[in-house]
Amino acid sequence: MKKNKLGLVGHPLGHSLSPLMHRAVFEKLRLDYSYESFDVKPSELAYFMDITVYKGFVGLNVTIPYKVDILKYVDKVSREAELIGAVNTIKFVGDDVCGYNTDGIGCIKALKDAGVSVKDKRVLVLGAGGAARAVAFQCAIEGASLSIANRTMEKTKKLAADIEGRLGGKVCVCDFSYDGLLSGLKGIDVLINATSAGMHPHEDEELLSADMIPEKIAVMDLVYNPLETKLLSAARSRGCKTIDGVGMLARQGAESLNIWLGIDAPVKIMEDAVLSQLKKK
Ligand code: NAP
Repeated sequence: MKKNKLGLVGHPLGHSLSPLMHRAVFEKLRLDYSYESFDVKPSELAYFMDITVYKGFVGLNVTIPYKVDILKYVDKVSREAELIGAVNTIKFVGDDVCGYNTDGIGCIKALKDAGVSVKDKRVLVLGAGGAARAVAFQCAIEGASLSIANRTMEKTKKLAADIEGRLGGKVCVCDFSYDGLLSGLKGIDVLINATSAGMHPHEDEELLSADMIPEKIAVMDLVYNPLETKLLSAARSRGCKTIDGVGMLARQGAESLNIWLGIDAPVKIMEDAVLSQLKKK
């Protein structure tokens, strides 16, 4: 059987942008691959993983809620995925299911392409969910001086302890109260929102008011729907450099394509495909 299938597994999937982003690459580079969405219920995940291996699949992207659960079906795990404790990319290699995580590196590449380095910079990550874990670990790997703030303090402490335990160094834990955030924001160079606050249909949710954001820092929002979140527009009013979530989305996808097909995927084509879809809304 021809091995040319790729896809995204999650539940519920809604209207994912990943298929159109990957198909744009196949069309541009004239590659004979398909990319489909698979909305798989938790009770059907084991069966899905069983049959995928034999159905001509090169690999899969994995999204909410399976980034951690999928580890049960993975034989080999990359260093990043092992550190983060979650997998967003799978490749079938012979009899082995190999797991990777491209979210963190996708974020760092999006920042770098926007002219922002986190090395030796004071970075505050908001959130402690799957995306925040990937981003925070990668920032620590890149040499950032890291602080974390999350609504649920228990998760903030766990993420900070995991990073300190695995990579060494000190991670500051901030309280998610007004005063806690204000003190966490003091003196930072880069702010990264890795929570889902402000994401459609909750565009009006305010994470931080403009006056809390230090002037002229770099602010990245992982949320890409809407493109200009309330946080980014507040940051812009403070003279900050703002980076939306599309850059990371395209770069984590490009990293997955590199793992599956060994290609240097055209990130600009991927970004344009996503942007044209988002602008239609
Ligand atoms: P997740 O594992 O469900 O984590 C959600 C996080 O958001 C948790 O830290 C949660 O805090 C926090 N949160 C949710 N609502 C909040 C609110 N109203 N106020 C403050 N904090 C709130 O989700 P995820 O996978 O990490 O994804 C997080 C966001 O990143 C999503 O919007 C997702 O679309 C985006 N993302 C973007 C990319 C990209 O490539 N651009 C990649 C991955 C994810 P608690 O722990 O207190 O619940």
